[in-house]
Amino acid sequence: MHYEGPIYRPPSEANSLLVQATVGCPHNRCTFCMVYKNGPSYRVRPAADVIADLDEARTLYGDSVRTLFFPAGNTIAMPTDALCRICAHARKIFPHLARVTVYGSSQYIHKKGPDEMKRLADAGLSRIHVGLESGDDVILRLIKKGATARQHTQAGQWAMAAGIQLSLYVVLGIGGAARTLPHAARTADVLNRIAPDFIRLRTFVPKVHTPMLKMVESGAFKMLGPHGVLKEAATMIRLLDVPSRLTSDHYTNYIDLEGCLPGCRNRLLSNIGDAMKRPETDFRPFFVGDQ
Ligand code: SF4
Repeated sequence: MHYEGPIYRPPSEANSLLVQATVGCPHNRCTFCMVYKNGPSYRVRPAADVIADLDEARTLYGDSVRTLFFPAGNTIAMPTDALCRICAHARKIFPHLARVTVYGSSQYIHKKGPDEMKRLADAGLSRIHVGLESGDDVILRLIKKGATARQHTQAGQWAMAAGIQLSLYVVLGIGGAARTLPHAARTADVLNRIAPDFIRLRTFVPKVHTPMLKMVESGAFKMLGPHGVLKEAATMIRLLDVPSRLTSDHYTNYIDLEGCLPGCRNRLLSNIGDAMKRPETDFRPFFVGDQ
């Protein structure tokens, strides 16, 4: 098995086989992200090498593998033929495989379009984790996400229409105090148009080696405190009208929120209301992230 550079995976892939298909991130410009800022440069591993690693895993683990994740940061960007080939091979050698997952930004899903999404679904790709971050174009430009709200929406709709599950990440507080209301409202709007399977909440933490940390330190970006973040989450949840599972399975969040919308909306809002009664000093302190 061969691994190169940082290997990240979603918390929900903790028990998955990880077989690296790409190295780094082809975008690598998001102003809040530190993962690949010091390299390595993006490259696609040859499909034959990925297949050799899959075969090695088959020898090691037999047919016990149930879930498979192909790191690294934006594997959806690899050529569709090659991604189809490795997905199909994995489905062939692991007959009990329930899920094949990648990270993928909306801009690359959008470039592939609906037909290539369908080809990938047919080849066995079953879930994509997408960093939506926000549905507000002002924020998306600020963070250099590489996609507009409209592109996020179309990409999400095409993946869902192809039958690929979507797990969309929202970063609370990523618009700071200045954009908290548009962030909540426009993110809810994009999510409502996509109706993803999962909505995963993260809270903005400035990371080392990032432009956003410099903006925080200079005072150009005013971060929300715990109550501001919780209020933003409540505003967004009130506006959501989707049959999605909402989860906040991450160390950056001030409280854990977990439930299926729309049924759990009142309980989630009540959890937030209870947390808002606690003083801000009761929550985790400000810190600069290094992972
Ligand atoms: S957040 Fe994702 S798309 Fe943006 S630079 Fe980091 S890995 Fe690449």
